[in-house]
Amino acid sequence: MTGLKDLLLRKIAANGPMTLADYMSECLLHPQFGYYTTRDPLGAAGDFTTSPEISQMFGELLGLCLAQAWLDHGAPETFTLAELGPGRGTLMADILRAGAAVPGFLTAARVYLLEVSQNLREKQHQMLAGQDVQWIETIADLPDAPLCLVANEFFDALPIRQFTRDRQGWRETQVGAVDHDLAFGLSAPAPIAVLDHRLADTEPGDIVEICPQAEPIVLEISDRISRHGGVALLIDYGDWRSLGDTFQAVRHHKTEHPLAWPGMADLTAHVDFEALATAAKGVDVTPLTPQGIVLERLGISARANALARRLQGPALDSHIAAHRRLTHPTEMGTLFKMIAFHHPGSPLPPGFVQ
Ligand code: SAH
Repeated sequence: MTGLKDLLLRKIAANGPMTLADYMSECLLHPQFGYYTTRDPLGAAGDFTTSPEISQMFGELLGLCLAQAWLDHGAPETFTLAELGPGRGTLMADILRAGAAVPGFLTAARVYLLEVSQNLREKQHQMLAGQDVQWIETIADLPDAPLCLVANEFFDALPIRQFTRDRQGWRETQVGAVDHDLAFGLSAPAPIAVLDHRLADTEPGDIVEICPQAEPIVLEISDRISRHGGVALLIDYGDWRSLGDTFQAVRHHKTEHPLAWPGMADLTAHVDFEALATAAKGVDVTPLTPQGIVLERLGISARANALARRLQGPALDSHIAAHRRLTHPTEMGTLFKMIAFHHPGSPLPPGFVQ
């Protein structure tokens, strides 16, 4: 039995079953045993791999997209270049390298990173050595300034609550204890006001998920953009509207039971992009677009060909595989989606069409 599992069982014995959101928070962020607090989850030796870790092309293209958005907003003399949940710092490093090709972009950029894990902050510090970077504790710490923001696989790590529709209301998924082991259960049915709008498109037995922390984060971002201009690019796996059980655990690149490895497996849920779009105020929202399509529009095939000319043998094979992995519909091209918020009336960020 792990330390965290013991702690959770004791907590449940004292207070009764906990929501999935509380379970996720404890597992991911517990100060002593939390998944993000204690380890570097990324890469072949870790638990999962993300788009920026697969190929430099991902960050380069997003960097040029942000730089074009900065130009489209009149190239403000200073602006906030922010990333939420920067992992190893690879995406920001690639954005900065590609952005250097656009005169004035880097000089104007003030880089801010929102990262909860001290461990990963250390990695980001190393990856971005020589850059002037500030870490912030909460999204409200972002300066009042034009904003270019990116978040890849950040919202999927925020705790969710999960509900099953019942004839009498909604039953919430809970984590309780059975025979000294963690077990899922369902609360008694009750009406849930924030799910009233889902009564029309669900029926008894359907499962929906909500992410309470996402809304205030999106509000802060959209507030900066609506007052000062800018763009936010949000990339994650998920869909326009939450339906079904998407709560999952991944450990050593394999899916596991979400209660089997508390604090030792990554826990995520699909992102409900409709909820993010609805929470955004005073900004224009692009259509939700598959990652593969945005990357193709940004020119990933041309960039892939240019890089391929310098490669051969196994390096070339893995470069071709990385291009396919990022864009192909059966890999990350369709499962992952991108949405952007931008200042009302400003051009759509490159890669998006109305
Ligand atoms: N964006 C990176 C890493 C994705 S993993 C990439 O694409 O490679 C999720 C990231 O979000 C990690 O850096 C994790 O530490 C961070 N994170 C998770 N929950 C967070 C929270 N509540 N506040 C700030 N950062 C968080």
